[in-house]
Amino acid sequence: MEKLVIIGAGQAAVQCINSLIKESYSGAITLVGDEEHLPYQRPPLSKGFLDDTVNKERLYFKKLEFFIENKVQLHLGVRVEGVDLENKNVTLSDNSKLDFDRLVFATGSKVRTLEFPGSELESVHYLRGLDDAESIKTDLNSCKNLVVIGAGYIGLEVAAVAAQKDLNVTVIEMADRVMNRTVDPQISNYYLDLHENNGVSFKFNASVKEIRGDTRPKSVICSDGTEIKADAVIIGAGIIPNTELAGDAGIAINNGILVDEYGQTNHENIYACGDCTNHPNKLLNENLRLESVHNAMEQSKTVASSILNVPIEYSQVPWFWSDQYDHKLQIVGLSGNHDTVTMRGDMSESKFMLFYSKNQELLAVDSINNPKEFLISRKLVEKKVKIDAEMIADPTTDLNKLI
Ligand code: FAD
Repeated sequence: MEKLVIIGAGQAAVQCINSLIKESYSGAITLVGDEEHLPYQRPPLSKGFLDDTVNKERLYFKKLEFFIENKVQLHLGVRVEGVDLENKNVTLSDNSKLDFDRLVFATGSKVRTLEFPGSELESVHYLRGLDDAESIKTDLNSCKNLVVIGAGYIGLEVAAVAAQKDLNVTVIEMADRVMNRTVDPQISNYYLDLHENNGVSFKFNASVKEIRGDTRPKSVICSDGTEIKADAVIIGAGIIPNTELAGDAGIAINNGILVDEYGQTNHENIYACGDCTNHPNKLLNENLRLESVHNAMEQSKTVASSILNVPIEYSQVPWFWSDQYDHKLQIVGLSGNHDTVTMRGDMSESKFMLFYSKNQELLAVDSINNPKEFLISRKLVEKKVKIDAEMIADPTTDLNKLI
Protein backbone atom coordinates (compact mmCIF):
# COMPACT_ATOMS: atom_id res chain seq x y z
CA MET A 1 0.00 0.00 0.00
CA GLU A 2 1.26 3.49 -0.90
CA LYS A 3 2.52 5.43 2.14
CA LEU A 4 1.71 9.15 2.28
CA VAL A 5 3.24 11.37 4.97
CA ILE A 6 1.96 14.93 5.50
CA ILE A 7 4.15 17.33 7.50
CA GLY A 8 2.23 20.02 9.41
CA ALA A 9 -1.29 19.60 10.82
CA GLY A 10 -3.00 22.85 9.81
CA GLN A 11 -5.61 24.13 7.34
CA ALA A 12 -3.85 22.82 4.22
CA ALA A 13 -3.14 19.35 5.65
CA VAL A 14 -6.72 18.78 6.78
CA GLN A 15 -8.14 19.91 3.44
CA CYS A 16 -5.74 17.60 1.61
CA ILE A 17 -6.80 14.66 3.81
CA ASN A 18 -10.48 15.52 3.33
CA SER A 19 -10.14 15.57 -0.44
CA LEU A 20 -8.23 12.28 -0.46
CA ILE A 21 -10.82 10.55 1.73
CA LYS A 22 -13.67 11.91 -0.38
CA GLU A 23 -12.10 10.29 -3.43
CA SER A 24 -11.47 7.00 -1.57
CA TYR A 25 -7.66 7.25 -1.63
CA SER A 26 -6.31 3.75 -1.14
CA GLY A 27 -2.97 4.68 0.47
CA ALA A 28 -2.05 4.92 4.15
CA ILE A 29 -2.06 8.52 5.42
CA THR A 30 0.18 9.69 8.30
CA LEU A 31 -0.10 13.25 9.61
CA VAL A 32 2.70 14.76 11.72
CA GLY A 33 2.11 18.06 13.53
CA ASP A 34 4.34 19.79 16.06
CA GLU A 35 1.44 21.33 18.03
CA GLU A 36 -0.24 19.24 20.75
CA HIS A 37 -3.72 20.18 19.49
CA LEU A 38 -5.90 18.49 16.94
CA PRO A 39 -5.79 20.60 13.73
CA TYR A 40 -7.68 23.87 14.20
CA GLN A 41 -8.67 27.03 12.33
CA ARG A 42 -6.49 30.09 12.88
CA PRO A 43 -8.71 33.00 11.70
CA PRO A 44 -10.90 33.03 14.86
CA LEU A 45 -7.77 33.31 17.03
CA SER A 46 -7.62 37.06 16.40
CA LYS A 47 -11.40 37.47 16.24
CA GLY A 48 -14.20 35.34 17.75
CA PHE A 49 -11.98 33.18 19.96
CA LEU A 50 -10.51 36.30 21.62
CA ASP A 51 -13.87 37.95 22.19
CA ASP A 52 -15.47 34.69 23.41
CA THR A 53 -18.01 34.34 20.58
CA VAL A 54 -16.22 31.22 19.28
CA ASN A 55 -15.30 28.59 21.86
CA LYS A 56 -12.30 26.28 21.67
CA GLU A 57 -14.30 23.24 20.53
CA ARG A 58 -15.47 25.11 17.44
CA LEU A 59 -11.91 25.79 16.33
CA TYR A 60 -11.15 22.15 15.54
CA PHE A 61 -11.72 21.07 11.95
CA LYS A 62 -12.44 17.47 12.93
CA LYS A 63 -12.89 15.40 16.05
CA LEU A 64 -10.36 12.68 16.90
CA GLU A 65 -12.93 10.06 15.78
CA PHE A 66 -12.71 11.34 12.20
CA PHE A 67 -9.00 10.49 12.01
CA ILE A 68 -9.54 7.12 13.70
CA GLU A 69 -12.49 6.15 11.48
CA ASN A 70 -10.57 7.10 8.34
CA LYS A 71 -7.39 5.34 9.50
CA VAL A 72 -5.30 8.51 9.42
CA GLN A 73 -2.31 7.91 11.70
CA LEU A 74 -1.76 10.99 13.85
CA HIS A 75 1.55 12.06 15.40
CA LEU A 76 0.80 15.28 17.29
CA GLY A 77 3.21 17.27 19.43
CA VAL A 78 6.07 15.83 17.36
CA ARG A 79 8.25 17.69 14.89
CA VAL A 80 9.68 16.39 11.66
CA GLU A 81 13.37 17.18 12.04
CA GLY A 82 14.79 15.73 8.87
CA VAL A 83 13.73 14.49 5.45
CA ASP A 84 15.79 11.95 3.55
CA LEU A 85 14.66 12.02 -0.07
CA GLU A 86 17.00 9.28 -1.18
CA ASN A 87 15.90 6.71 1.39
CA LYS A 88 12.37 8.11 1.44
CA ASN A 89 11.93 8.59 5.16
CA VAL A 90 11.44 11.39 7.70
CA THR A 91 12.96 11.59 11.18
CA LEU A 92 10.76 12.85 14.02
CA SER A 93 11.77 14.70 17.18
CA ASP A 94 11.11 11.51 19.20
CA ASN A 95 13.84 9.87 17.07
CA SER A 96 11.41 7.57 15.26
CA LYS A 97 11.39 7.34 11.47
CA LEU A 98 8.51 7.15 9.02
CA ASP A 99 8.89 5.76 5.50
CA PHE A 100 7.01 7.39 2.65
CA ASP A 101 6.28 6.91 -1.04
CA ARG A 102 4.83 10.40 -1.33
CA LEU A 103 5.39 13.38 0.95
CA VAL A 104 3.49 16.66 1.45
CA PHE A 105 4.94 19.75 3.09
CA ALA A 106 2.08 21.68 4.72
CA THR A 107 4.33 23.45 7.19
CA GLY A 108 2.68 26.91 7.12
CA SER A 109 4.46 30.00 8.41
CA LYS A 110 6.01 31.37 11.55
CA VAL A 111 5.85 34.91 12.92
CA ARG A 112 8.53 37.43 12.10
CA THR A 113 10.09 38.28 15.46
CA LEU A 114 11.49 41.65 16.56
CA GLU A 115 14.46 42.05 18.86
CA PHE A 116 14.88 45.02 21.19
CA PRO A 117 15.42 45.38 24.94
CA GLY A 118 12.37 44.01 26.74
CA SER A 119 11.05 42.01 23.78
CA GLU A 120 11.58 38.85 25.86
CA LEU A 121 9.39 39.98 28.81
CA GLU A 122 6.25 38.06 29.86
CA SER A 123 3.06 39.36 28.26
CA VAL A 124 4.88 40.38 25.09
CA HIS A 125 2.97 38.24 22.61
CA TYR A 126 3.01 37.10 19.01
CA LEU A 127 -0.10 35.49 17.58
CA ARG A 128 0.18 32.41 15.39
CA GLY A 129 -1.25 29.49 17.33
CA LEU A 130 -3.92 28.49 19.82
CA ASP A 131 -1.49 28.61 22.77
CA ASP A 132 -0.59 32.22 21.86
CA ALA A 133 -4.28 33.15 21.61
CA GLU A 134 -5.04 31.62 25.00
CA SER A 135 -2.38 33.66 26.77
CA ILE A 136 -3.39 36.83 24.91
CA LYS A 137 -6.99 36.22 25.96
CA THR A 138 -5.93 35.91 29.60
CA ASP A 139 -4.09 39.24 29.36
CA LEU A 140 -6.94 41.02 27.57
CA ASN A 141 -9.21 40.00 30.44
CA SER A 142 -6.86 41.32 33.13
CA CYS A 143 -4.89 44.25 31.59
CA LYS A 144 -5.73 47.91 31.28
CA ASN A 145 -3.21 49.16 28.74
CA LEU A 146 -2.37 47.32 25.54
CA VAL A 147 0.21 48.32 22.96
CA VAL A 148 -0.03 46.71 19.54
CA ILE A 149 3.07 46.86 17.33
CA GLY A 150 2.08 46.72 13.66
CA ALA A 151 -1.13 47.94 12.01
CA GLY A 152 -1.63 44.93 9.74
CA TYR A 153 -4.65 42.62 9.86
CA ILE A 154 -3.68 40.65 12.97
CA GLY A 155 -2.68 43.73 14.97
CA LEU A 156 -5.85 45.59 14.03
CA GLU A 157 -8.13 42.63 14.74
CA VAL A 158 -6.64 42.22 18.21
CA ALA A 159 -6.84 45.99 18.76
CA ALA A 160 -10.55 45.88 17.87
CA VAL A 161 -11.26 43.09 20.37
CA ALA A 162 -9.26 44.85 23.09
CA ALA A 163 -11.01 48.18 22.47
CA GLN A 164 -14.37 46.45 22.83
CA LYS A 165 -13.16 45.09 26.16
CA ASP A 166 -12.52 48.73 27.20
CA LEU A 167 -8.73 48.49 27.31
CA ASN A 168 -6.63 51.56 26.48
CA VAL A 169 -5.17 50.51 23.14
CA THR A 170 -2.31 52.16 21.25
CA VAL A 171 -1.16 50.88 17.87
CA ILE A 172 2.41 51.70 16.77
CA GLU A 173 3.07 51.48 13.03
CA MET A 174 6.21 52.14 10.97
CA ALA A 175 4.27 53.23 7.88
CA ASP A 176 2.04 56.28 7.66
CA ARG A 177 -1.28 54.39 7.53
CA VAL A 178 -2.98 51.13 8.53
CA MET A 179 -2.91 48.03 6.26
CA ASN A 180 -0.57 50.00 3.99
CA ARG A 181 0.70 46.96 2.09
CA THR A 182 -2.69 45.84 0.83
CA VAL A 183 -5.38 48.50 0.63
CA ASP A 184 -5.93 51.94 -0.88
CA PRO A 185 -5.43 54.98 1.41
CA GLN A 186 -9.22 55.57 1.32
CA ILE A 187 -9.73 52.26 3.12
CA SER A 188 -6.83 52.92 5.49
CA ASN A 189 -8.42 56.23 6.46
CA TYR A 190 -11.83 54.66 6.86
CA TYR A 191 -10.41 51.99 9.21
CA LEU A 192 -8.35 54.56 11.09
CA ASP A 193 -11.58 56.50 11.82
CA LEU A 194 -13.36 53.29 12.80
CA HIS A 195 -10.66 52.40 15.33
CA GLU A 196 -10.30 55.94 16.65
CA ASN A 197 -14.07 56.16 17.15
CA ASN A 198 -13.72 53.04 19.29
CA GLY A 199 -11.04 54.69 21.39
CA VAL A 200 -7.87 53.24 19.82
CA SER A 201 -4.86 55.62 19.54
CA PHE A 202 -2.32 55.41 16.73
CA LYS A 203 1.30 56.38 16.38
CA PHE A 204 2.45 56.28 12.74
CA ASN A 205 5.94 56.57 11.24
CA ALA A 206 7.20 55.13 14.50
CA SER A 207 9.15 52.12 15.65
CA VAL A 208 9.83 50.61 19.07
CA LYS A 209 13.15 51.09 20.83
CA GLU A 210 12.46 49.29 24.09
CA ILE A 211 9.83 47.72 26.31
CA ARG A 212 10.44 48.76 29.92
CA GLY A 213 9.44 46.55 32.83
CA ASP A 214 10.81 43.98 35.30
CA THR A 215 9.20 40.67 34.44
CA ARG A 216 6.17 42.19 32.66
CA PRO A 217 5.90 45.36 30.55
CA LYS A 218 5.26 48.74 32.16
CA SER A 219 5.73 50.92 29.09
CA VAL A 220 6.85 50.96 25.49
CA ILE A 221 9.48 53.47 24.36
CA CYS A 222 9.27 54.60 20.73
CA SER A 223 12.27 55.60 18.64
CA ASP A 224 11.37 59.30 19.08
CA GLY A 225 11.43 58.85 22.88
CA THR A 226 7.64 58.79 23.41
CA GLU A 227 6.68 56.53 26.33
CA ILE A 228 3.36 54.64 26.17
CA LYS A 229 1.90 52.78 29.17
CA ALA A 230 1.58 49.04 28.57
CA ASP A 231 0.65 46.01 30.70
CA ALA A 232 0.77 43.77 27.64
CA VAL A 233 2.17 44.05 24.11
CA ILE A 234 1.12 42.28 20.92
CA ILE A 235 3.58 42.18 18.04
CA GLY A 236 2.12 41.68 14.56
CA ALA A 237 5.10 42.11 12.26
CA GLY A 238 4.23 39.63 9.51
CA ILE A 239 5.11 36.02 8.85
CA ILE A 240 7.83 33.95 7.20
CA PRO A 241 7.15 30.64 5.40
CA ASN A 242 8.46 27.47 7.10
CA THR A 243 10.85 26.28 4.40
CA GLU A 244 14.00 25.22 6.29
CA LEU A 245 13.09 21.53 6.49
CA ALA A 246 12.40 21.32 2.75
CA GLY A 247 15.45 23.43 1.92
CA ASP A 248 17.76 21.22 4.00
CA ALA A 249 16.41 18.18 2.16
CA GLY A 250 17.43 19.71 -1.17
CA ILE A 251 14.06 20.99 -2.35
CA ALA A 252 14.06 24.25 -4.32
CA ILE A 253 13.12 27.31 -2.25
CA ASN A 254 12.56 30.92 -3.26
CA ASN A 255 10.39 32.93 -0.87
CA GLY A 256 8.49 29.70 -0.14
CA ILE A 257 8.79 26.09 -1.26
CA LEU A 258 8.68 26.28 -5.05
CA VAL A 259 5.87 24.21 -6.55
CA ASP A 260 4.36 23.92 -10.01
CA GLU A 261 0.69 24.41 -10.86
CA TYR A 262 0.02 20.86 -9.60
CA GLY A 263 1.58 21.47 -6.20
CA GLN A 264 4.65 19.37 -6.98
CA THR A 265 8.11 20.48 -5.87
CA ASN A 266 11.22 19.97 -8.00
CA HIS A 267 11.20 16.34 -6.75
CA GLU A 268 8.77 13.76 -8.04
CA ASN A 269 6.11 12.68 -5.53
CA ILE A 270 7.08 15.49 -3.12
CA TYR A 271 4.39 18.17 -2.86
CA ALA A 272 3.70 21.31 -0.86
CA CYS A 273 0.59 23.38 -0.19
CA GLY A 274 -0.60 26.39 1.80
CA ASP A 275 1.33 29.26 3.37
CA CYS A 276 4.72 27.58 2.93
CA THR A 277 4.60 27.59 -0.89
CA ASN A 278 5.41 29.87 -3.77
CA HIS A 279 3.39 28.90 -6.85
CA PRO A 280 2.84 30.06 -10.42
CA ASN A 281 -0.51 31.76 -11.00
CA LYS A 282 -1.33 31.74 -14.71
CA LEU A 283 -4.42 33.93 -14.31
CA LEU A 284 -2.29 36.71 -12.85
CA ASN A 285 0.84 35.76 -14.74
CA GLU A 286 3.12 35.82 -11.71
CA ASN A 287 4.51 33.67 -8.92
CA LEU A 288 2.73 34.10 -5.60
CA ARG A 289 3.29 33.31 -1.94
CA LEU A 290 -0.05 33.75 -0.22
CA GLU A 291 -1.09 33.80 3.43
CA SER A 292 -4.78 32.91 3.33
CA VAL A 293 -7.35 30.24 4.05
CA HIS A 294 -8.55 30.24 0.45
CA ASN A 295 -5.05 29.48 -0.86
CA ALA A 296 -4.44 26.78 1.75
CA MET A 297 -7.72 25.06 0.90
CA GLU A 298 -7.62 25.28 -2.87
CA GLN A 299 -3.96 24.42 -3.27
CA SER A 300 -4.37 21.34 -1.06
CA LYS A 301 -7.23 20.15 -3.24
CA THR A 302 -4.81 20.38 -6.17
CA VAL A 303 -2.15 18.41 -4.27
CA ALA A 304 -4.74 15.75 -3.39
CA SER A 305 -5.69 15.48 -7.07
CA SER A 306 -2.00 15.00 -7.98
CA ILE A 307 -1.66 12.25 -5.36
CA LEU A 308 -4.77 10.59 -6.81
CA ASN A 309 -3.11 10.69 -10.25
CA VAL A 310 -5.83 12.93 -11.71
CA PRO A 311 -3.95 16.24 -11.58
CA ILE A 312 -6.00 19.43 -11.68
CA GLU A 313 -4.18 22.72 -12.23
CA TYR A 314 -4.33 25.23 -9.37
CA SER A 315 -5.50 28.40 -11.02
CA GLN A 316 -7.50 30.79 -8.87
CA VAL A 317 -7.67 34.47 -8.10
CA PRO A 318 -6.62 34.96 -4.46
CA TRP A 319 -9.05 36.31 -1.91
CA PHE A 320 -8.91 37.16 1.77
CA TRP A 321 -11.02 38.66 4.55
CA SER A 322 -10.57 40.50 7.84
CA ASP A 323 -13.15 41.16 10.58
CA GLN A 324 -12.74 44.24 12.75
CA TYR A 325 -15.63 45.32 15.05
CA ASP A 326 -18.80 44.58 13.06
CA HIS A 327 -17.03 45.33 9.77
CA LYS A 328 -16.18 42.70 7.16
CA LEU A 329 -13.38 43.61 4.77
CA GLN A 330 -13.02 41.25 1.79
CA ILE A 331 -10.31 41.54 -0.84
CA VAL A 332 -10.05 39.73 -4.16
CA GLY A 333 -7.21 39.97 -6.67
CA LEU A 334 -3.97 41.94 -6.50
CA SER A 335 -4.32 45.69 -6.87
CA GLY A 336 -0.58 46.50 -7.09
CA ASN A 337 -0.39 47.72 -10.71
CA HIS A 338 -3.66 49.67 -10.92
CA ASP A 339 -4.01 53.06 -12.56
CA THR A 340 -7.61 53.78 -11.48
CA VAL A 341 -9.63 53.26 -8.30
CA THR A 342 -13.41 53.53 -8.51
CA MET A 343 -15.70 53.75 -5.50
CA ARG A 344 -19.05 51.98 -5.46
CA GLY A 345 -21.46 52.51 -2.57
CA ASP A 346 -21.42 54.98 0.25
CA MET A 347 -18.63 55.21 2.83
CA SER A 348 -20.89 57.10 5.21
CA GLU A 349 -23.24 54.09 5.24
CA SER A 350 -20.31 51.74 6.00
CA LYS A 351 -21.07 49.70 2.88
CA PHE A 352 -18.84 50.36 -0.11
CA MET A 353 -16.35 48.81 -2.51
CA LEU A 354 -13.24 49.91 -4.35
CA PHE A 355 -12.63 48.61 -7.88
CA TYR A 356 -8.98 48.70 -8.98
CA SER A 357 -8.30 48.64 -12.73
CA LYS A 358 -5.51 49.11 -15.23
CA ASN A 359 -6.37 50.25 -18.74
CA GLN A 360 -9.96 49.55 -17.68
CA GLU A 361 -9.20 45.87 -16.95
CA LEU A 362 -10.41 44.92 -13.49
CA LEU A 363 -7.52 43.75 -11.24
CA ALA A 364 -8.94 43.67 -7.73
CA VAL A 365 -11.86 44.64 -5.51
CA ASP A 366 -11.95 45.59 -1.82
CA SER A 367 -15.38 45.29 -0.25
CA ILE A 368 -16.58 46.63 3.08
CA ASN A 369 -19.77 45.06 4.42
CA ASN A 370 -21.04 43.96 1.02
CA PRO A 371 -20.54 40.17 0.86
CA LYS A 372 -23.25 39.76 -1.76
CA GLU A 373 -21.62 41.96 -4.39
CA PHE A 374 -18.19 40.71 -3.30
CA LEU A 375 -19.16 37.23 -4.50
CA ILE A 376 -19.98 38.63 -7.92
CA SER A 377 -16.76 40.68 -7.88
CA ARG A 378 -14.72 37.50 -7.46
CA LYS A 379 -16.08 36.33 -10.81
CA LEU A 380 -15.49 39.73 -12.41
CA VAL A 381 -11.83 39.77 -11.33
CA GLU A 382 -11.35 36.20 -12.48
CA LYS A 383 -12.75 37.09 -15.90
CA LYS A 384 -10.64 40.28 -16.04
CA VAL A 385 -13.68 42.20 -17.28
CA LYS A 386 -13.26 45.67 -18.74
CA ILE A 387 -15.00 48.16 -16.52
CA ASP A 388 -16.35 51.62 -17.02
CA ALA A 389 -15.84 53.78 -13.93
CA GLU A 390 -19.15 55.59 -14.28
CA MET A 391 -21.06 52.34 -14.64
CA ILE A 392 -19.37 50.75 -11.60
CA ALA A 393 -20.02 53.83 -9.48
CA ASP A 394 -23.71 53.79 -10.41
CA PRO A 395 -25.48 51.84 -7.61
CA THR A 396 -28.25 50.76 -10.02
CA THR A 397 -25.77 48.83 -12.21
CA ASP A 398 -26.33 45.09 -11.77
CA LEU A 399 -22.80 43.67 -11.43
CA ASN A 400 -24.05 40.27 -12.54
CA LYS A 401 -24.64 41.67 -16.00
CA LEU A 402 -20.91 42.48 -16.34
CA ILE A 403 -19.86 38.85 -16.06
P1 FAD B 1 -0.85 26.44 9.19
O1 FAD B 1 -2.30 26.54 9.44
O2 FAD B 1 0.06 27.42 9.84
O3 FAD B 1 -0.38 24.96 9.59
C1 FAD B 1 0.97 24.55 9.51
C2 FAD B 1 1.24 23.60 10.67
O4 FAD B 1 2.48 22.92 10.44
C3 FAD B 1 1.42 24.33 11.99
O5 FAD B 1 0.69 23.69 13.00
C4 FAD B 1 2.93 24.21 12.24
O6 FAD B 1 3.24 24.27 13.63
C5 FAD B 1 3.19 22.83 11.65
N1 FAD B 1 4.60 22.56 11.34
C6 FAD B 1 5.52 23.37 10.78
N2 FAD B 1 6.71 22.74 10.66
C7 FAD B 1 6.55 21.50 11.15
C8 FAD B 1 7.43 20.36 11.30
N3 FAD B 1 8.70 20.41 10.92
N4 FAD B 1 6.94 19.25 11.85
C9 FAD B 1 5.62 19.17 12.26
N5 FAD B 1 4.76 20.20 12.14
C10 FAD B 1 5.21 21.35 11.59
N6 FAD B 1 -6.55 33.90 6.57
C11 FAD B 1 -7.65 34.37 5.94
O7 FAD B 1 -7.86 34.08 4.76
N7 FAD B 1 -8.54 35.18 6.62
C12 FAD B 1 -8.37 35.52 7.92
O8 FAD B 1 -9.18 36.24 8.49
C13 FAD B 1 -7.21 35.03 8.60
N8 FAD B 1 -7.00 35.31 9.90
C14 FAD B 1 -5.92 34.79 10.54
C15 FAD B 1 -5.74 35.07 11.89
C16 FAD B 1 -4.64 34.56 12.57
C17 FAD B 1 -4.45 34.85 14.02
C18 FAD B 1 -3.67 33.77 11.88
C19 FAD B 1 -2.46 33.23 12.60
C20 FAD B 1 -3.85 33.49 10.54
C21 FAD B 1 -4.97 33.99 9.85
N9 FAD B 1 -5.19 33.72 8.50
C22 FAD B 1 -6.30 34.21 7.87
C23 FAD B 1 -4.21 32.93 7.73
C24 FAD B 1 -4.59 31.47 7.65
O9 FAD B 1 -4.94 30.97 8.91
C25 FAD B 1 -3.41 30.71 7.07
O10 FAD B 1 -3.20 31.19 5.76
C26 FAD B 1 -3.64 29.20 7.06
O11 FAD B 1 -3.74 28.71 8.37
C27 FAD B 1 -2.52 28.50 6.34
O12 FAD B 1 -2.69 27.12 6.46
P2 FAD B 1 -1.43 26.13 6.39
O13 FAD B 1 -1.96 24.78 6.61
O14 FAD B 1 -0.62 26.44 5.20
O15 FAD B 1 -0.53 26.54 7.63
